[in-house]
Amino acid sequence: MPVSDPWFEVYKVAPETFAIYEPHQAEETISYLIVGTKQAVIFDTGMGIGSISKVTRQLTAKPVVVLNSHTHNDHVGGNSEFMFVYGMDTDFTRKNARGSRADAQAEIAPDQICGNLPAGFNRKTYMTKPWKISRSAQDGFTINLGGRKLEIIATPGHTPDSIALIDRANGLLFTGDTYYPAPIWLYRPETDIGRAGAASENGAGRAQHSRGAAGRAAETRGCDSGSARGKGRRQGGGNGQGYAHL
Ligand SMILES: [Zn+2]
Repeated sequence: MPVSDPWFEVYKVAPETFAIYEPHQAEETISYLIVGTKQAVIFDTGMGIGSISKVTRQLTAKPVVVLNSHTHNDHVGGNSEFMFVYGMDTDFTRKNARGSRADAQAEIAPDQICGNLPAGFNRKTYMTKPWKISRSAQDGFTINLGGRKLEIIATPGHTPDSIALIDRANGLLFTGDTYYPAPIWLYRPETDIGRAGAASENGAGRAQHSRGAAGRAAETRGCDSGSARGKGRRQGGGNGQGYAHL
């Protein structure tokens, strides 16, 4: 689907469901806009390199609230652009909501970027901007979008605040970094490998996984940076932020 900012590519992956993909950075993040009749959820906000709220405004006129699959910097970069952000009730979440500069700066090292950064992007001042947690959420929490409900499934492991989102009526499961068909970096201090494995089997593993159009695009059109931190397009996909049709 056409969007005005070439930093992003957008794919309609199901009715009223859009994958917003960032192909020019090694994380190859995919955020999902999930739209109901009254409001929409943006599930992750990407790198904060391009303005993701400008993209969501082109896709829906409804109010958009933020849910994060977890609060690593590559999933929360655009949080500060939105009025309402849910946060899991963890110290890890609260710490990350204060923003940070070091992880963000590492993401724009020359071997992490291919193609052009957006016009007006300032390398020197780039950071993960702080955001306000408007309301806390927990396992089982349901958001009514109007004619469409999303339920949080806590999947701690990759981080203490990892979640999946399930849209039962439409048979859709959004899995964040808990499960995607590419190598996952599990050796950060906040990762609990045992729990990550259990969460993966419990949450995402029961679904027939598909990354859909955005995933296929990641395999064919993303950066070919070959970086160690890039989560492996050449091994079968980018970062992914998977979703599944159940
Ligand atoms: Zn992560």
